[in-house]
Amino acid sequence: MGQTLDNIRRKEEELLFKTYGRYPLSIARGLGNKLWDLDSREYTDLLAGLGVVNLGHCRPELAEVMAAQSRKLVHVSNLFYQEEQLELAQRLLKTTHFGKAFFCNSGAEANEAAIKLARRYQQRVKNKYAYEIITFEGCFHGRTLATVAATGQERFQDGFLPMPDGFTRIEWGKPEALEAAISDKTAAVLLEIIQGEGGIRPVTPDFARSVAGICRDKGVLFMVDEVQCGMGRTGKYWAFQHYDLRPDIMSAAKALANGLPMGAMLGTDEVAAGFVTGSHATTFGAGALLSAVASKVLEIMEKENIPARAAELGAWAMERFRAVGDACPGKIREVRGMGLMIGIELAGPGREVWEKLLQKGFILNLTQEKVLRLLPPLSIEKSDLENFARTLQDVLAG
Ligand SMILES: *Cc1c(COP(=O)(O)O)cnc(C)c1O
Repeated sequence: MGQTLDNIRRKEEELLFKTYGRYPLSIARGLGNKLWDLDSREYTDLLAGLGVVNLGHCRPELAEVMAAQSRKLVHVSNLFYQEEQLELAQRLLKTTHFGKAFFCNSGAEANEAAIKLARRYQQRVKNKYAYEIITFEGCFHGRTLATVAATGQERFQDGFLPMPDGFTRIEWGKPEALEAAISDKTAAVLLEIIQGEGGIRPVTPDFARSVAGICRDKGVLFMVDEVQCGMGRTGKYWAFQHYDLRPDIMSAAKALANGLPMGAMLGTDEVAAGFVTGSHATTFGAGALLSAVASKVLEIMEKENIPARAAELGAWAMERFRAVGDACPGKIREVRGMGLMIGIELAGPGREVWEKLLQKGFILNLTQEKVLRLLPPLSIEKSDLENFARTLQDVLAG
């Protein structure tokens, strides 16, 4: 054995900015829905790298595409046409009603692109000096300055004031708050159909439709952040599709390339007129290697009908976790979510429960201090979820 966890911890303290509170675990390798630590201890992954590795770890078909493409072309920049990028755009757009794609490298960047497009569309196409973006309490849109401003949680803004102007945060779930907040300076509303970081809080269908309707009536763009809830996780390719909505702009990222960094902003042909040559750019966005992998991800999702699998398995899992709640009265406040985006809200602080689950070999996340957040690979086995349910019951009962 080379490294111990203590050695690694000391080395990291010496070398890296202290921005992360790490789990007490160093992951050495992964395959499918399993991860192994330094001592070759096996874990069931119910987090998928924060909703990223949706098709499981080190999937052989993706490894093959990576290897082959890495010998053909990896990156040339967006100064050039690249067929791989077009194939990806075609596959991705086909899962939506959108007409155009812009590729970048992360969720925050996809939201930045959306914010810039909304402003430029209003200012240059509609000739209206509208710039304000309205977001909702509890939302999360990223860590760049603009997306931190858009994010409705003060702890992410601590020490970074002043925030960029033009962001207004309103109450979640109240159409009348949105009606009151919109003015002639409002460019767009940005909504997470299911708040992820905010504790797995799905919008109600009524609220989602109200937001879309108010935006349409007031000439404000309706934008959805599908960075976490997209790519099949909730049981449809995109969470907004559960409610028959037609947003103007969407951001996506996490699961696009199953672990390689990629973000995308999709928009209707109408709003796409907001960007012209030179309006926006990125050096790395959708290079040939990333595009080839993301295309393969979408091909596999379609071939294996992954969104439907997530819907079915997720519905089963939520019922199963509710049964755990029934068996342990007073321990679980609520089980909620959609598809395989599941929050188990405990009655009290969850740190201890989370630690015990980790010790027993289950990797998941604790958000908002008491919500166990499950974002398993969409390829997770029912037996893995059943084992988790039993273990959770043991931990809660013990
Ligand atoms: C993770 C996340 C982001 C930010 O994505 P990064 O790739 O970390 O920049 C934005 N919005 C939502 C909803 C997210 O979950």
